[in-house]
Amino acid sequence: MAKRPTKFIFVTGGVLSGLGKGITAASIGNLLKARKLKVNIQKCDPYLNVDAGTLNPREHGECFVTKDGAETDLDLGHYERFLDEELSSSSSLMSGRVLLKVIQDERAGKYEGDDVQIIPHLTGAIQDYIINAGKGYDVHIVEIGGTVGDYESLSFVEAIRELGMRVGQENCIYVHVVYLPFLGASQEIKTKPAQNSVRELRSLGVTPDILVGRSERQANENVKRKLSLFSGVEPSAIALLPNAPSIYEVPLTLEDTKIADVICKKLGVKASKPKLKDWRDVVKRATSKHKKKITVGVVAKYMDNTDTYMSVFEALQSAAWWSDADIKIRWIEAEGLEKKKDISKIINGVDGILVPGGFGTRGLEGKIKAAQYALQKKVPYLGLCLGLQMGVIAAARLNGLTKASSTELDSKTPDPVIDTMADQRGKENTGGTMRLGDYPCNIDKQSLTAKLYKANKITERHRHRYECNNNYRDLYESWGIKAVGTSPDGRLVEIIEGLNHPFFVASQFHPEFRSRPNRPHPMFKGFIESCKRANG
Ligand code: GLN
Repeated sequence: MAKRPTKFIFVTGGVLSGLGKGITAASIGNLLKARKLKVNIQKCDPYLNVDAGTLNPREHGECFVTKDGAETDLDLGHYERFLDEELSSSSSLMSGRVLLKVIQDERAGKYEGDDVQIIPHLTGAIQDYIINAGKGYDVHIVEIGGTVGDYESLSFVEAIRELGMRVGQENCIYVHVVYLPFLGASQEIKTKPAQNSVRELRSLGVTPDILVGRSERQANENVKRKLSLFSGVEPSAIALLPNAPSIYEVPLTLEDTKIADVICKKLGVKASKPKLKDWRDVVKRATSKHKKKITVGVVAKYMDNTDTYMSVFEALQSAAWWSDADIKIRWIEAEGLEKKKDISKIINGVDGILVPGGFGTRGLEGKIKAAQYALQKKVPYLGLCLGLQMGVIAAARLNGLTKASSTELDSKTPDPVIDTMADQRGKENTGGTMRLGDYPCNIDKQSLTAKLYKANKITERHRHRYECNNNYRDLYESWGIKAVGTSPDGRLVEIIEGLNHPFFVASQFHPEFRSRPNRPHPMFKGFIESCKRANG
């Protein structure tokens, strides 16, 4: 029997950015997976960076890490959470990566004397990446970053136009997500910017098959009719998507518009009846009031953009929902703790402290202080990557090594309890050179962490350059901490726990990347449970 071809869904955005195009793409994926289709999803970003590892997290948000160690855009986090799939590096494509490939191929003589051009060479290379990522799947969803008409994303739009011819128009559809502004003066939703955006897309040779109209409030059928008339997209292929109280509601709202059935029909795929029970459970938990209310202090460096800690935030929230608790996150500026003699006034009232990952020196002393506070006052503590490193320093300093530090913070410290990994020296400012992605870890059977995981062999995702210095490991128990998780060869510390502490758990890896709204991560669940107990 001939293999069925992969079907492609291209998602573009119009009018303005920040429309929730990523959530829309992820929600379409969710609905197709619920119909038993094998779905992959990919983000194409117009940045000239080769990957997201070198992007500023303040401006761009969290750097999400895949199991195979790709440093990607935070949208991949949404994709993984909405699809409940582990994606790979092929799900993230930045302009820089394709350009680098084309130029390297040119230098290697692969073009055999051709003039190397944007069309067809760059657009062809983009298509190759997309086709490869889609191999073996029923449906491959491709989100194009930016807004249609941006100079920057032109080659991606051209590539998906050409791809339609390459794989056959019957094997792909174009979904355009547009914004429908509400005009207060006339109390109506306007469609003109959306009409213009469709025209813009058409002028680039792409005819949308589906429109998703995003608006702040619910738009009515009249809006749909008008949009249909001016865009040429039939009303049944237009989904109106008002703001939702929780992003997790979006798949269900979309399901109600019946757009997923229209998509399946247009693509000619055989889909089963959607199974959305699990997802309805997630939404119910995400949107209902819970018995308890807990407050978690997140000691962070970037305060003005919570996108920077997106997966941590989502992991905390889902763990709380599943523990029947409402969670309030108090962002505590790490730098603000540094000069304070007594930080209890700032930290007072939180049921638990979380120190997330981070790079650079700013705020590190504040994070160490927060970890010391947690150790001394027996406040539940969850440390993620940098949060483990600060936890070790805190324990060392409380137990006599007052100048203990990490060489990331103080290269001349007499007690480098955290130091660069041998193979990482000299690469501090280079992209893609850290210890990245999945690594196995063995956990002490007796430890709290093993009980939380209900396992003693795990695999988790990493992104770090520094590690626990083995010269100090013998002292850990005298500092009141224990390395309960290590790499299988025992060389690298992966997890520490506080001794005689209700919950002091920190990992060198990032458990937040593997947490799911329908399956919160065990470390987060354990942390939230201990916060609930601390709350009384
Ligand atoms: N900066 C630290 C390191 O490189 C921690 C990294 C992180 O928290 N992801 O090891």
